[in-house]
Amino acid sequence: MELKSILELNLRYKGMLILLAFTVFVGFLLFQKAVNVRKEVEAIYSDRYILRNYASSAKLNSYKIIFTGDIMLDRGVETAISEYGGGDYSFPFLKIADYLKRADLTVGNLEGAISDKGYNVGSIYSFRSEPKAIKGLEFAGFDLVSLANNHAFDYTSAALEDTFVRLQKAGIKYAGAGWDKEEALSPKIIELSDGTRVAFLAFSNLGPKTWEAKDDSTGLAWLDRESLEEGISSARREADIIITMFHWGEEYQSFSNDSQKSFARLAVDLGADLVVGHHPHVAQEAERYKSKYIAYSLGNFIFDQSFSEETMEGLILEAFIENKEIKQAVARKIEINEFYQPALAD
Ligand SMILES: [Zn+2]
Repeated sequence: MELKSILELNLRYKGMLILLAFTVFVGFLLFQKAVNVRKEVEAIYSDRYILRNYASSAKLNSYKIIFTGDIMLDRGVETAISEYGGGDYSFPFLKIADYLKRADLTVGNLEGAISDKGYNVGSIYSFRSEPKAIKGLEFAGFDLVSLANNHAFDYTSAALEDTFVRLQKAGIKYAGAGWDKEEALSPKIIELSDGTRVAFLAFSNLGPKTWEAKDDSTGLAWLDRESLEEGISSARREADIIITMFHWGEEYQSFSNDSQKSFARLAVDLGADLVVGHHPHVAQEAERYKSKYIAYSLGNFIFDQSFSEETMEGLILEAFIENKEIKQAVARKIEINEFYQPALAD
């Protein structure tokens, strides 16, 4: 073989060796990353509902925030209220209100406007509850609701804006929606009696993006990286604890999808202390990531979906706060009866 061709062969070998070494190196990095993510994620559900090894350290002097899943007070729920509850909107909350009121704060997802304004935009699943439905939320002791969801615009922005006003009058804060983008992304802060400031943010990425609040129009806080960064960074300046609520995922799926996982973990990376999800109408798993809790879906709380067992049960999340930190979160199962009244299952 001539010297020139030996050199060429050598060079080719070297090139291949370098490429191989590079591939192995990149592969190693990716593997390490996967291992690291896995180390940071600790599944706290061994099946869909049961959280293990959690309850022992909840101390009596901690503050308790209760989170519920989807609350929908129209359609079959409204019929049950008028037929069996004499038109009194405390009816759906009767079996759980005492428990909710014992919490320091109670927070839920309000699916649809509470209003007599606007008109049905035409979906067969359009929700708007009677103005007196707000009495039910007051009766059950709700302090704050998320409005960032796919039913916020069922009766136009007029009904949504009217809902802002009615909630405000009732002393119930709302997160995830507003008269403009600034309000929608602004954290709603509640101060506990020891001075701990808890910030609530809510986002949704369901439905058309035209529902996103703009600088000059009413809408929702849209779940994307930019909005999350904006919302969480302003919450960090004002609060000790940041809670993000997400309306996301796929209906009737018992486990979260990749998009939910990446938004949840991004929220924690940006500084969220707790992530609470809704929308799938069924409960999904929870996990701990970087020692923060993520509950992917609490399922239904008050909803008229009697077609399956999974939609007639759900989760309540109890978050315990001590020394300006979330010490732990506990999921408890609820069951919804034929009158759409939730009650603790245990
Ligand atoms: Zn929804």
